Amino acid sequence: MLELGGTVTMTVETPVAAEVDVLVAGGGTAGCLAALAAARNGACVMLVERHGYLGGMVTAGNAGLTMFMKFSGDPEEHAADQETLRERPLDVQIAGGITKEFADRLISSGAGIGNFGQAGSYIFTSSEDTKRLLFDMMEEAGVQLRLHSWAADVLMEGDTVRGVVVESKSGRQVILAKMAIDATGDGDLCVRSGVPFHLGVTPDDITVKDGAKIGEMHAMGVMFKAGNVDLKTTFGWLTENPNRFAKQPFARFTFAEAKAHFERGDMATINILMDETPRRFQVYNLPTPGVVTLCCPSFSGDGTNVEDLTRAEVVLAGMVDRWLANMRANVPGFEGAFLLDCPEIGVRETRHIAGEHVLNIEDIYKQVDFPDSIGRGSHPIDTRPRPAWLQDPETSYPPRWFFHIPFRSLIAKERPNLMVVGRCMSATHEAFGCIRPTVQCMITGEAAGTAAALSVGKGLDDIRALPFEDLRNALTDQGVLL
Ligand SMILES: Cc1cc2nc3c(=O)[nH]c(=O)nc-3n(C[C@H](O)[C@H](O)[C@H](O)COP(=O)(O)OP(=O)(O)OC[C@H]3O[C@@H](n4cnc5c(N)ncnc54)[C@H](O)[C@@H]3O)c2cc1C
Repeated sequence: MLELGGTVTMTVETPVAAEVDVLVAGGGTAGCLAALAAARNGACVMLVERHGYLGGMVTAGNAGLTMFMKFSGDPEEHAADQETLRERPLDVQIAGGITKEFADRLISSGAGIGNFGQAGSYIFTSSEDTKRLLFDMMEEAGVQLRLHSWAADVLMEGDTVRGVVVESKSGRQVILAKMAIDATGDGDLCVRSGVPFHLGVTPDDITVKDGAKIGEMHAMGVMFKAGNVDLKTTFGWLTENPNRFAKQPFARFTFAEAKAHFERGDMATINILMDETPRRFQVYNLPTPGVVTLCCPSFSGDGTNVEDLTRAEVVLAGMVDRWLANMRANVPGFEGAFLLDCPEIGVRETRHIAGEHVLNIEDIYKQVDFPDSIGRGSHPIDTRPRPAWLQDPETSYPPRWFFHIPFRSLIAKERPNLMVVGRCMSATHEAFGCIRPTVQCMITGEAAGTAAALSVGKGLDDIRALPFEDLRNALTDQGVLL
């Protein structure tokens, strides 16, 4: 019925524009790693991305890449791990394979800045250089890019995805694929193909027993860049005013460590405490001199709702303006700072897609060694709500800690040729709080891309028929740390 609130059925003739082995929807870090891994393992791969560039939250949202080494809640052990990272990296490192290769290339090309000249807790990047590096890597691997294209729908045959419908300035087109990987962050392909999901807090989350509301989502936010910042002056001021410094959770540098890192030209994150609201500014240095990233004005809303997304952009643009004015007025080193880059809103949490295994916080905390482990993560929960017994992730996790990620959490439930990677993989809200940082997302992408290519190579049309031994061997050969 053609009236407000009614629905319209439309039949649109749609050309089949291409046929590939593996289609990856979403070119964030999870999707990029999936595409690279699939192409390097011999598959014909297409990567579909709605923006005109790759990198997702890392380039479109200024986010950092966390975390490459085992987590230690104990500050002394953490400091020792930083030293070990320099001398014997494999003793503390959790990420290998293409994930580590990407990190190394970020740092060696000058597009990224890490600890001790390598990937430690964090890497921060220059978005423009990262975009170019990702293009280079795709070209080297022979990945076909389809930019400025939305993955809008799927073509199903029973439970199997036969193709993906893309919308672009060229109109609506179909790309046929043997295997599909959903790296859209919000599970768009999975939803279109009817896979169940939960938004935000799930009924399986422990915090629900403490009164957390099912559906509650971690807030959206924006990380923005300021130019003409003299961080040397800021560090000098903080030396005189130590009460203005707070440790950045998870990076956990003391002021002396942060200052030493900064003076060496490494990644040095600080939290600056303020008397007025907002109470703290997170500041990250970048490879580009005089430019810093600041985090994070936030907005509560649903990142799968276009009206919430629109409102968030408008509200957060105003908040960024006020934050920067506050910095200019109150923080030495920021007097001449100007807004260099206020990217689009970053969505932290939306859908958790149901997979063959739903990763939960007990799997993570107890470090369950899954028989189908495809890699390790090490980030503690950094979302709210979280269980009372994990209120302080800095102290409540075992020393030198990491967890395993099972392959089954990347296989969309009852869909033989559809995988889901990155922040929307199959996990509860609490487990998502450990999985969502970028490094963990990249590890899932590399595994799914490798599995998709191996399956196509063996003529399998059901990813679940791939012997895990084959995947494990391929990942080990790629240098993934299992
Ligand atoms: C404000 C904020 C700060 C953060 N800070 C950090 C940090 O410091 N360190 C850290 O490790 N993590 C951080 N994170 C988390 C981390 O950045 C993300 O969880 C992670 O990058 C997600 O990776 P992804 O590849 O799953 O998704 P994304 O990076 O979101 O990539 C998804 C990609 O898919 C594309 N896409 C979406 N839908 C479609 C579609 N239908 N068709 C085609 N393309 C589509 C998007 O354009 C995007 O490129 C932060 C997140 C936020 C929001």
